[in-house]
Amino acid sequence: MIEEYLNLVSKEDCCGCNACVNICPRNCISFKLDEHGSYYPYKNKENCIDCGACEIVCPVLHNNSFKLNNKIYACKNKNDEIRKISSSGGIFSAIAKCVIEHKGYVVGAAFSNDYYNVHHVIIDNEEDLALLRGAKYIHSNIENTFKEIKKLLLSNIIVLFSGTPCQIAGLKSFLHHQEYINLICVDVVCHGVPCTGVYQWYIKTLEKKYNSKVIFVTFRDKKNGWRNSSVVFKFENGEDLSMPSADNSYMKGYINNLYIRSSCTKCKFKDFQSGSDFTLSDFWGSSELRKYKKDNIGVSVVSVNTEKGAKIFNIIKDQLNDVSLIDKGVAYVFNENVSISAKINSRSQEFLANYRTEDFDRLINQYVPNQPIEIKSSQSFIYTIKRFIYLLFH
Ligand SMILES: Cc1cc2nc3c(=O)[nH]c(=O)nc-3n(C[C@H](O)[C@H](O)[C@H](O)COP(=O)(O)OP(=O)(O)OC[C@H]3O[C@@H](n4cnc5c(N)ncnc54)[C@H](O)[C@@H]3O)c2cc1C
Repeated sequence: MIEEYLNLVSKEDCCGCNACVNICPRNCISFKLDEHGSYYPYKNKENCIDCGACEIVCPVLHNNSFKLNNKIYACKNKNDEIRKISSSGGIFSAIAKCVIEHKGYVVGAAFSNDYYNVHHVIIDNEEDLALLRGAKYIHSNIENTFKEIKKLLLSNIIVLFSGTPCQIAGLKSFLHHQEYINLICVDVVCHGVPCTGVYQWYIKTLEKKYNSKVIFVTFRDKKNGWRNSSVVFKFENGEDLSMPSADNSYMKGYINNLYIRSSCTKCKFKDFQSGSDFTLSDFWGSSELRKYKKDNIGVSVVSVNTEKGAKIFNIIKDQLNDVSLIDKGVAYVFNENVSISAKINSRSQEFLANYRTEDFDRLINQYVPNQPIEIKSSQSFIYTIKRFIYLLFH
């Protein structure tokens, strides 16, 4: 079999949404890990009939722009137990519960059984929602879920699709931007996704160190609170590794953009440009508002982007507490990832050529000295000014 990079767009621009894989009438496109550990589409040259379907659906080549009249709310799930196991205020669970109660299906990111991958799965019951809850800081592979979603939509079943902004754009593009009243899309404000290869290497080093298989991972454990979340890795032999996210090597490298997917550094789908009905994020400025001041279980910002979203938000309101309509400036003043792409670390290329070493912690400490992330874009300067003005008046 002769395989080559699909090359609709350069590897630097490919967001890895899988729309090309799902649309191909000959099933001749598949995703493979490249030498730097990111998934890219490769085509089987012998089977390809050059029909051009993959080019038509690539959201990077043909991205739409959305004019929005979005309403932005701060809120949290009434159920504290759900909030504790969610990354922020548990709003995804509230929307998903509503969809399941209406006999719908929910699609989102789940770990593979061995915890070496994250992929999108389709569930139809509240018990399985646990698989989708919580942010996984690894690129989630869409696999064939777009095709499955289309079948469900054509059978008049309600589908809730959740993912990063590029994945929403990919699905919309795969559906040729046809409006389905039974499709609800939720995206997250996204820092960017790390390269899978680095995550897999990190898990491998942990398994060697603990001499046991990983059987559980969470990146946002809240036992020390939502603002000081921890990472937790559990092992088959009963041991576990639990530490503040800020001290964990994998998280340090991620937050410092050492191994972020290239396309995330010039994301076209940020700033509510994915076509989603809702955009969810942490409300990092919540402690400035009296109502949420003491809350350390998690408060969300929900941007309701469409009329469909507004109707659904009205339905789920009885599952939420402390719902406040807030200004965009207040909502995102401490969350510039809503509109600004991550800036690649200047030593990223060097790191990606060297990360396969036994002592991952030591390597990260060489690349990321113990200092807060430094972002040097001029837009970040604007955010600093915005924060200053905000704090002055609140
Ligand atoms: C890679 C990533 C980066 C993020 N960066 C930021 C940020 O910079 N600022 C911010 O405010 N919020 C960020 N978030 C979003 C935030 O952490 C919460 O996930 C979001 O606010 C929803 O929280 P929740 O409590 O409502 O539900 P949760 O139960 O926490 O929601 C989980 C949702 O996230 C989806 N999801 C989880 N992991 C992935 C993944 N790897 N790929 C695609 N979808 C995934 C699930 O499908 C589900 O819909 C990020 C999330 C991810 C996955």
